[in-house]
Amino acid sequence: MGHAAQLAGDNAVTGFEIKGWCPGALRPMASGDGLVLRIRTRNGRLEPDQARLIAGLAARCGNGLMDLTSRANLQLRGLDHAGHAEAVAALAGIGLIDRDEAAEARRNVILSPFAPVGSAAWRLAEAIAAAMTAPDAPQVPGKFGFAVDTDTLALADTPSDIRLRPSGSGWRIVPDGGDWSLKAADVAEAANRAVDLARWFMQDGVQDGRGRMRDLLRRNPAPPPGAKPLAPPPSSYSVPDTGPGPAPNGWLLGFAFGQITPAQLTAAAALGPLRLTPWRALLIEGARQPLIPGAIMDLDDPLLRIHACTGAPRCPQALADVRGLARALAPRLRAGQSLHVSGCAKGCAYRGAASVTLLAKAPDRFDLIRDGGPNDPAVQGNLSPHRIPL
Ligand code: SF4
Repeated sequence: MGHAAQLAGDNAVTGFEIKGWCPGALRPMASGDGLVLRIRTRNGRLEPDQARLIAGLAARCGNGLMDLTSRANLQLRGLDHAGHAEAVAALAGIGLIDRDEAAEARRNVILSPFAPVGSAAWRLAEAIAAAMTAPDAPQVPGKFGFAVDTDTLALADTPSDIRLRPSGSGWRIVPDGGDWSLKAADVAEAANRAVDLARWFMQDGVQDGRGRMRDLLRRNPAPPPGAKPLAPPPSSYSVPDTGPGPAPNGWLLGFAFGQITPAQLTAAAALGPLRLTPWRALLIEGARQPLIPGAIMDLDDPLLRIHACTGAPRCPQALADVRGLARALAPRLRAGQSLHVSGCAKGCAYRGAASVTLLAKAPDRFDLIRDGGPNDPAVQGNLSPHRIPL
């Protein structure tokens, strides 16, 4: 690969503390194991040919590892600058590259993976993406995003600044953290009102180039015209399982650490079109109990509750083989317990709180943090991997 040495000294070393934006294809992010290129698929769906091409790029241009992200995107890892250029050219050929970095960053729309192709929700997500990549789109800060749901409200727990959900024969547009909403009669009006709500947010919601809807609403601004008190969601809705297992339109597969290999992606693409999900599961449309080597089929598999970064030997910053340790500890996790194992203090894999966070200090030494994240104080230090109390 050789890319790591090329990146040493730039943001590969210092970039982890950068917050407020996500990598894209045109604006990759330097990580410990090279450049991270995030592919924002159109409505979270990949045709089999697109998936096969991406699998080839991951193997040829990167280090062969891909991440399923919590924004329902797919990341290639370990690219050098030449590999990045090759990947961008290939992705442009299949319609997955935006006009420029800013447009790419604003096209932050998650569609429920259970929404049928061509449905009203599908068209609404497309319309918002088109409006947000237009030259006159509100210049929302990085990470500002939309979620377009269906009647099942599968995205109810997916962080998003503006949510859209069906309501009667129309749509309801809900700001994250708000107790009011806007109504729209059809897809076109819903897209317009959602983008107008983003414009309303821009009036007072951005400080130092950053901002989220929830933070703005904590400051109690006057709602925009037409806002009505938020009605509770219908009591009849039932959120479908988010996997692994059967889905309304196919089958959901889990992957340890949200990581998928080119071989797995190719095998999945052989069974049908793919939908990316914010639960880091992969949905194969129309599939029933697909057999993909290495995929997690069991909802109770503890590996689904473990975060672990690339670690040694692929990441030059890594002090330990964290994925090996994570797999060894998985059988000891209790029900509901989560674990984050990090190859160094940067904690790339997960910034949130886990039941137990382990930070490598040496190949066989770890600090332990309870109910916190990588930046919280350790309660035990210098632990041998054989003596870690979960
Ligand atoms: S060891 Fe892990 S946390 Fe540290 S830089 Fe590498 S990938 Fe990130």
